Amino acid sequence: MKQTKRFRVKPECGTKPGYDYHVRQLGEEPCPECHTALKQWWVDYRKRPDAKERMAIYNRTNRKMRNGTRFKKLLAQGFNPEKDYFSANMVIDTYGTDCHLCGGAIDLAAPRTPGKPGWEKSLHIDHVVPLSRGGDDTLENVRPSHGKCNIKKNNNYTLTTNE
Ligand SMILES: [Zn+2]
Ligand SMILES: [Zn+2]
Repeated sequence: MKQTKRFRVKPECGTKPGYDYHVRQLGEEPCPECHTALKQWWVDYRKRPDAKERMAIYNRTNRKMRNGTRFKKLLAQGFNPEKDYFSANMVIDTYGTDCHLCGGAIDLAAPRTPGKPGWEKSLHIDHVVPLSRGGDDTLENVRPSHGKCNIKKNNNYTLTTNE
């Protein structure tokens, strides 16, 4: 099976991402600390009120679907009672035009698609608590950010600094 490089920075041991890093990225046995962390993660997961529903969706989809951003967004919207409509303009009106991750000014005219000239400074809407971690798709949970900073943050809570 093709290994996908999910982590650019090694997550700490004793966390679920740490476990994933061992298994998926390095293809090795996880350390005992990470083993314990995964067990605990499942214990906590089953306590979530939407655990059953999430598991059901998980079981009837395949990996490729689950990795899609659109799907993650749908999943998040479906499960979160907290959802509302917001536009990019509303995000800017509420939080300003500085990147909430690095503090720099955002170039609103730049193309947002990664790879296009100037996209690094373009406007991306970053989810403070990532959708893939159960964050809400609401105005409250989003902030303006640079394209580059948003991609760099990935599904973490902050920009990782030990690069
Ligand atoms: Zn470990
Ligand atoms: Zn930034």
